[in-house]
Amino acid sequence: MKIAVLKETDPQETRVSATPETAKKFIALGADMAVEAGAGAQAGISDAEFAEAGAKVGERGQVLADADAVFCVRGPDPDSLGGAKAGAWLVGTLDPFGQRERVDSYAKAGVEALAMEFMPRITRAQSMDVLSSQSNLSGYKAVLDAASEYGRAFPMMMTAAGTVSAAKVFVMGVGVAGLQAIATARRLGGQVSATDVRAATKEQILSLGAKPIFVEEVAGIEGEGTGGYATEMSEEYQKAQAELVSAHIAKQDIVITTALIPGRPAPRLISDAQIATMKPGSVIVDLAVEQGGNVEGASPGEVVVKHGVKIVGHRNVPGRLAADTSSLYARNLYNFLSAFWDEETKKPVLPEDDEIVQGVTLTRGGAVINERLKGS
Ligand code: NAD
Repeated sequence: MKIAVLKETDPQETRVSATPETAKKFIALGADMAVEAGAGAQAGISDAEFAEAGAKVGERGQVLADADAVFCVRGPDPDSLGGAKAGAWLVGTLDPFGQRERVDSYAKAGVEALAMEFMPRITRAQSMDVLSSQSNLSGYKAVLDAASEYGRAFPMMMTAAGTVSAAKVFVMGVGVAGLQAIATARRLGGQVSATDVRAATKEQILSLGAKPIFVEEVAGIEGEGTGGYATEMSEEYQKAQAELVSAHIAKQDIVITTALIPGRPAPRLISDAQIATMKPGSVIVDLAVEQGGNVEGASPGEVVVKHGVKIVGHRNVPGRLAADTSSLYARNLYNFLSAFWDEETKKPVLPEDDEIVQGVTLTRGGAVINERLKGS
């Protein structure tokens, strides 16, 4: 079993899909690790550290030659995978909805594409869940980004010269990123409130010591679809939510938006008119900016100022903490493949009827077979 670890080609991508720690662990299971030179450079891992862990470091062609599995963070150009074995697994975040045509190309190239972001949200797969591991750190970083753009302090401070009031922080979307954003903003001393369409998050918000902001009186707004994900809301709900949020938002200093609906553009949560009601100097961080954005006027890769309010739209927020996010991502990949490891053949066996395998497998035998992609 040869595992190839690619150097990312997307200029935005700073993470790497293996670390010396996971390389060592795979080698202990009987695998050979081949790492493309420079793969870990932007995550603070040198080629020498990979070599010390027992991996062979080389150019892409050497690394891919006869590989049984190819690890990446973002899906590479299908044409660049020449040399890997027929039917080799390509394991990474392959953006199946956004890069649908590329998935077809992986099928044509005879690669078995395994999309880690399609990992089922089940207990058994928690340690393999890249969305959680990466979102967690994004939620943390979003608060730090907000703090550094904000021209005031977060905590209330009582000084001899007078009192500085605490920043009012509002988190919209309380999934993994939102929960971490709430916790981080609380740690910094902010006065935190939060909202979501899923009623179940109310308890979680309260348990973190923040205030839930919820539309209470509109029928049918459980907002939870399969796998615990959000569903698109009724027009009636959206209107009621917008009214509640409008009143609340005008009083906030910092707003962090994290709302996503899998396979669809991110829901629009904040309009330009709502931004105009905020105090100049306030900051909005849009973590959904790359999926279409929760905030009107947010622009991927930019900090835009509208009505005196800064709208922060950093791309690839997990990549802004590349050392930690790579370490967790690499462990997610290890936890996934090692769970299916066959001691005798010293490689994973992925049963086609397993819920996890069915969830992540996009292509097999030259065809796109994933249920979630059918009809897309
Ligand atoms: P996500 O990134 O898909 O979305 C972020 C949040 O935005 C969600 O909480 C969603 O409800 C919310 N949202 C969507 N539309 C909104 C709107 N219009 N207004 C306000 N909020 C809106 O979410 P996620 O972090 O991937 O979590 C999704 C679900 O999976 C959650 O229920 C989470 O608890 C669950 N989860 C389960 C496991 C597990 O059991 N293994 C692991 C991680 C997450």
